[in-house]
Amino acid sequence: MSDHGHVGEQHRSHRSGWLRAGVLGANDGLLSTASLLIGVAAGNASRSVLVLTAVAALVAGALSMAAGEYSSVASQRDAELADLQMERRSLAADPNEELLELAELYCQKGLTQALSMEVAQQLSAIDAFAAHSRDELGLNPDALTSPIQASLSSALSFSLGAAVPALTMGLASSALRIPGTVVLTLLALGVLGGIGARLGGASVTRAAVRLVLLGGGSMAVTTLVGRVLGTSV
Ligand SMILES: [Zn+2]
Repeated sequence: MSDHGHVGEQHRSHRSGWLRAGVLGANDGLLSTASLLIGVAAGNASRSVLVLTAVAALVAGALSMAAGEYSSVASQRDAELADLQMERRSLAADPNEELLELAELYCQKGLTQALSMEVAQQLSAIDAFAAHSRDELGLNPDALTSPIQASLSSALSFSLGAAVPALTMGLASSALRIPGTVVLTLLALGVLGGIGARLGGASVTRAAVRLVLLGGGSMAVTTLVGRVLGTSV
């Protein structure tokens, strides 16, 4: 970094990837577990039933997040690897054709034909595969998303979110269980909404309010379901 005061603008959207996934996982863990537990508690369940439900909800949710994330990232990665391999084969089979293709890409971006060819030639001399991966496929072969890492971070973030309502339900007195869970869940949702918006460079307040309203609505619905079914089932 230069010491002439130029620090450059803070671009945020590029680093939102896995952090955003973590925030989404935590939101999901918070709200689905809180809504489930509030529904069960509103049906007058005992503490032991609530604790069992909380543990089951946390484990089931974390595993389901892990499985979903794994399969989605793994199939994306398979497609990316297939693209990269096809590119490597074309480069080996017909480097001239590939050079023209790369030059054409720079031409489309607005460089003159002569300059495009020069850029393509120089980049190909450095690392043709890297240039094609980046500029033609938009991929960095050394930094593909790992399905295992993605699934672990989803499962972990879901569990952290789910722990808030699970612990509140398990530890609070019977009178405080539902209100305590509602308040702490809404607070945590507001904070997460704000963090998510900040990571994406969007309005913090709007995102927090939106999540709190949606969370409140979801818990209201399951409270109603628990009340109705709790007396009739
Ligand atoms: Zn190519």
